[in-house]
Amino acid sequence: MKLEDINKVGEKNLKLLNNLGIYNIDDLIRNYPYRFEVLARRNINDSNFFDNMTIDGIVETTPVVSFFKGKKNRLTFMINSQDKLIKVIIFNRAFMKNSIKVGNYVTVIGKYNNKLETLTATNILLSKLGNTLKIIPVYHQTKGLTSKQINYFVNEALSYLPLHNNIPSFLSDKYNLMDEHDALKIIHNPTSEQELKNAIKTLKYEELFTYMLKVRRLKKKNEEHNVLFKKNIDLKEVNKFISKLPFKLTIDQKQAIKEMIQNLRNDVKMNRLLQGDVGSGKTIVAFILAFACFTAGYQSTLMAPTEILAIQHYENALNLFKDFDFKIGLLTGKMTSKQKKEVYGKLENKELDFLIGTHALISENVTWNNLGLVITDEQHRFGVSQRLALKNKSQVPDVLLMSATPIPRTYALTIYGDTDVTSIKTMPKGRIPVKTFVRKTSELKEVLEIIYLALKNGNQAYVIAPMIEESDNADYTNVNDLKHKFELAFKNYRVEILHGKMENEEKEKIMNDYLENKINILISTTVIEVGVDVKNATVMAIFNAERFGLSTLHQLRGRVGRNNLQSYCFLVSDKDTERLKIMEQTTDGFKISEADFKLRGQGDLFGNRQSGDLMFKLSDVKKDYDLLVKVKEDVNNYFEKQSL
Ligand code: ADP
Ligand code: MG
Repeated sequence: MKLEDINKVGEKNLKLLNNLGIYNIDDLIRNYPYRFEVLARRNINDSNFFDNMTIDGIVETTPVVSFFKGKKNRLTFMINSQDKLIKVIIFNRAFMKNSIKVGNYVTVIGKYNNKLETLTATNILLSKLGNTLKIIPVYHQTKGLTSKQINYFVNEALSYLPLHNNIPSFLSDKYNLMDEHDALKIIHNPTSEQELKNAIKTLKYEELFTYMLKVRRLKKKNEEHNVLFKKNIDLKEVNKFISKLPFKLTIDQKQAIKEMIQNLRNDVKMNRLLQGDVGSGKTIVAFILAFACFTAGYQSTLMAPTEILAIQHYENALNLFKDFDFKIGLLTGKMTSKQKKEVYGKLENKELDFLIGTHALISENVTWNNLGLVITDEQHRFGVSQRLALKNKSQVPDVLLMSATPIPRTYALTIYGDTDVTSIKTMPKGRIPVKTFVRKTSELKEVLEIIYLALKNGNQAYVIAPMIEESDNADYTNVNDLKHKFELAFKNYRVEILHGKMENEEKEKIMNDYLENKINILISTTVIEVGVDVKNATVMAIFNAERFGLSTLHQLRGRVGRNNLQSYCFLVSDKDTERLKIMEQTTDGFKISEADFKLRGQGDLFGNRQSGDLMFKLSDVKKDYDLLVKVKEDVNNYFEKQSL
């Protein structure tokens, strides 16, 4: 059946439907009303309902039309509703003038002004409301096509449509869902709120189910069974490395490693997201996997979003693997072409087993000897397009994405729907939550005192500013200024700065000195936001904290609290914002991401909207998250049954 086959859909209406994004019957019947007008008698003395009032009454005066500002017009008349005279105003409905007749019943819907006894209507129905409830579906409209007409076309289509259920019956039984065809009929023609609710529940489930099934099929396609993916890992060697670590792995870390090594050993391609809050210890897990690949004779790579982080991982890995014959290299965009060439040569000749670098390295023409695993750190910083770019590389080895929990928990199931998820939920032992305080610039003394105590104790501090140098916006603190101020306040201590515009060597030197506690106070921009790990730092002061988003603040704060001492984070700001309050209240990355989600809304998070597959018509990834999780499980079960 085509749109043109519907009664009254001619060339003109077809075009109008197209304007609304409706090109076929399926689009039409899934063009759900975006809201429902529930017409229920309200008591005019009940102030709760003034904004959305529905009343009926008898027309008392002939409607008067007045025109203003070009084509705009206003229609006014009086009605008598339960012995009360009410003035009704409606804009741009001059055409209704002759249908509203004195002595007839009308039902008006709109906003009631109690003082003026005036109702500004959004809709007028030429009938009595009576005591029965009415629910009117409202569709997105286009000029020349009303909600009512759209509803007519939908119903025509529905009456011809063969019955078809997408949800298998054992699942619709499980959730008490309606027949899908009935649900469609009801959502377009609801008669009771309860029924409508059930219909929406059914269609939401169906929407998520079909989506997840698609994703699952995609995943299946990715799950190429191929001996190429089968890595003969030397577990003994891996365990030897683990036993030599300076700390004991947490249960979650062990579990994650076990799960992923299993994946590396079987012949299914790994496509996995490792998520864990800031400081939960993902890096070591990545290193162990890279090492595991090495024991099977493969090379691996770890990509970080910033040079500073890449350098830190590199130094860290060199140190951890110093007693092993595991050759580690570094590649960043800022290296000279001579340095890069040297690295390329080594990769080709397999003189390197593990390459750590910035994301720049996927765009470079690196020839590997036998690349077996690609790891991306702080995946959420890279975005969807880069993830896809990575997937589209011709040589596709096993892939591991790592991310701090926050944003992706909800993301994970949608954007990463074709990906397995491994989580680290517990923090390494002995961690104490960071104490966070919002302080005004006039209260700096207290902040400086705490920093002073920390330094006296042999610990270190981070100071964060939004700018590198003085700029047009004199309101914002900058790194250079702060350096002078802190040098004056802390005469016997070494204060240094770090920011993204510095040369690699300089950054490396500063980071190393800070790591070795040769620098006491590090004044930095948000370049240290991701991943930087200096256990001895116990205080952080963030200037102009109101400038930063929640996830940035959470990530920044994650730089302290990495040992078993009490750490502090001061958010210096003269503005009271909701974000700063949330930071004071919790250190739980999940709660923070939820709050972030609410404050910023879905739109912002899914900035990359053109990848339309994220858009659901009925469901909301945030509000329906729990359902989404259930559906994912259901789909997996169903899928497994089917492929038997
Ligand atoms: P993130 O998950 O944020 O990337 P990191 O991997 O940087 O966290 O780890 C944070 C710190 O915790 C590092 O200093 C790391 O050496 C340390 N760490 C990791 N695992 C453990 C553990 N099991 N016990 C103690 N410390 C650990
Ligand atoms: Mg990290």
